[in-house]
Amino acid sequence: MIVGIECTAHTFGVGVVDNGKILTNVKDMYVPKKGGIVPIESAKHHKEVAEKLWWEALEKARINEKKIDAIALSNAPGLAPCLKAGMDFAKKKAMELKVPIIPINHCIAHLEIGRISGAKDPVLLYASGANTQIIAYASGKYRVFGETLDIGIGNFIDKVARHMGIPFPGGPKIEQLAKNGKYIELPYSIKGMDVSFSGMQTKIQQLFDKGEKIEDLSFSLQETAFAMLIEAAERAMAHINKNELVLGGGVACNSRLQEMAKIMCKEREAKFFCPAKEFLVDNGAMIAFLGEILFNKKNYPRNINEVDILPRERTDEVYVSWR
Ligand code: AMP
Ligand code: MG
Repeated sequence: MIVGIECTAHTFGVGVVDNGKILTNVKDMYVPKKGGIVPIESAKHHKEVAEKLWWEALEKARINEKKIDAIALSNAPGLAPCLKAGMDFAKKKAMELKVPIIPINHCIAHLEIGRISGAKDPVLLYASGANTQIIAYASGKYRVFGETLDIGIGNFIDKVARHMGIPFPGGPKIEQLAKNGKYIELPYSIKGMDVSFSGMQTKIQQLFDKGEKIEDLSFSLQETAFAMLIEAAERAMAHINKNELVLGGGVACNSRLQEMAKIMCKEREAKFFCPAKEFLVDNGAMIAFLGEILFNKKNYPRNINEVDILPRERTDEVYVSWR
């Protein structure tokens, strides 16, 4: 039995996995009162809810603490204060229970959880708040084939939304507004498999200030930004010869992005996988899921003092020992 703790940004989550099966996945999200995420405030949130969520997860999984073999922890990458709050909690529990801590890279957990939906060797389009990457496995590592050159797609959407008076998280509201919008041309910025969003952000904000309709801007944002992501993902699939696509990250909850991905895969006769929403957003179950794989391979530090946070660890720095 592995308990996974997610703490990299706004979400504190606890998931329990046994033999590849997810028994529980509970979470609580820090929502800023105004503006964007304040890391210290989010860390405070994590400290406040940790104990409660821990017990809730164990109760829902109907297990007692003695059954826990290890604690998997999202120690990278993310906001340092949030990672530290999660690590302190994990270490306290690990010491009490005398179990090891398995450090997990959050981005790779998003990729691996795609396997529960059946993908074997996919390209991952990871579209979340802070991260936007096209990732796939090649010779011992998950390589980043393309990524944003400025801000993450989710942060971009949230910033534009905030400018238009919509509070965090802006993504779901923009999706609703887009349903009644029509197309306006926006800057489309893709170089190879890399994308950037700040030009589009400036343009949308200028158009909004000039009185352009919020529905039309929302629709055009989605059509343009998502087309860029799908183009980059398709180029990666063609280039490295993979015929599966998996979505990950909170922005992947968007039905228009899912629809575009589905169409692209159909056209090139590739398989499309999209995990359930609770596994797309940040969650503890995906941390536990990858944690169990590493636990079974006995691939984790023997001494919990070796565990530390790695706020800037990159996906391609992790040696993939389990494949
Ligand atoms: P994550 O960082 O993976 O937890 O995802 C959070 C991000 O997903 C935030 O930027 C949200 O605005 C975004 N998001 C959530 N739901 C949607 C949606 N339906 N459409 C677009 N973005 C979304
Ligand atoms: Mg994430």
